[in-house]
Amino acid sequence: MQSEFQQVIDQCGVDLAGVADLSPAREALLAQGGDTFAKFPRAVSLGCRVAHEVVESIGDHGNRALVMNYIHHIYSVVNHRLDQAALSLTGFLMAKGYLAFPVPASQVLSYEDYSGLAPHKTAAHLSGLGWVGRSALLVTKQYGPRVRFATVYTDAPLDAGEPAKNRCGSCDQCVEACPAGAMTGEAFAQDKTRDHIYDPKACNEYMRERRLSLLGKRVFGGNCGLCIHSCPFGGKLKRA
Ligand code: SF4
Ligand code: SF4
Repeated sequence: MQSEFQQVIDQCGVDLAGVADLSPAREALLAQGGDTFAKFPRAVSLGCRVAHEVVESIGDHGNRALVMNYIHHIYSVVNHRLDQAALSLTGFLMAKGYLAFPVPASQVLSYEDYSGLAPHKTAAHLSGLGWVGRSALLVTKQYGPRVRFATVYTDAPLDAGEPAKNRCGSCDQCVEACPAGAMTGEAFAQDKTRDHIYDPKACNEYMRERRLSLLGKRVFGGNCGLCIHSCPFGGKLKRA
């Protein structure tokens, strides 16, 4: 099972994958979505890199074409690949007789608390792929926050990783870079809610105004990305 699982991962076009033991997150999953996701003992976190130069280009925050290209790249191109990968993995797990629920890469279902169907960062963190930074982004060891995620919740008996250690240290570059003042500067804590470190409403409202003034119209989705751009863990292109 484990080696076949690895083959599916190798062929599905993702850059990162990890298996999370969800037991530390069960209460939070219950609170967010009832038993639908809390019943799963594990989740597979799938990560796809965002193109380095596309992130670099949004440092020029006023360039309309680059802003549009960034939004297209992350929401249409990268998310599509993640959703296809999650579908492939779900098919494999179901064929083996296990439950599998693919959670799409980007999905806000509640504009009251800006939450999605089920969390991606919890699974990515518990699987060992990275930690939740001051930006509330998942910061990976390999590519910093320049990665997007999809998640497949499952009961398959896959080998789980260990949660990754937080390596933000005294850095606050994302806090300084955020034009909306959306981050409190506090470090992420497992026993506290996201509001402790990040205000999604402030981020969203900034982006709504920004898109209107820059693009002259409402555009679905999109973040300004300066928190992703500023993080030193993603700032260097690692050549093979
Ligand atoms: S996307 Fe922009 S506005 Fe939102 S938190 Fe990141 S830096 Fe701040
Ligand atoms: S910019 Fe610094 S504080 Fe923010 S997530 Fe990255 S390492 Fe952590």
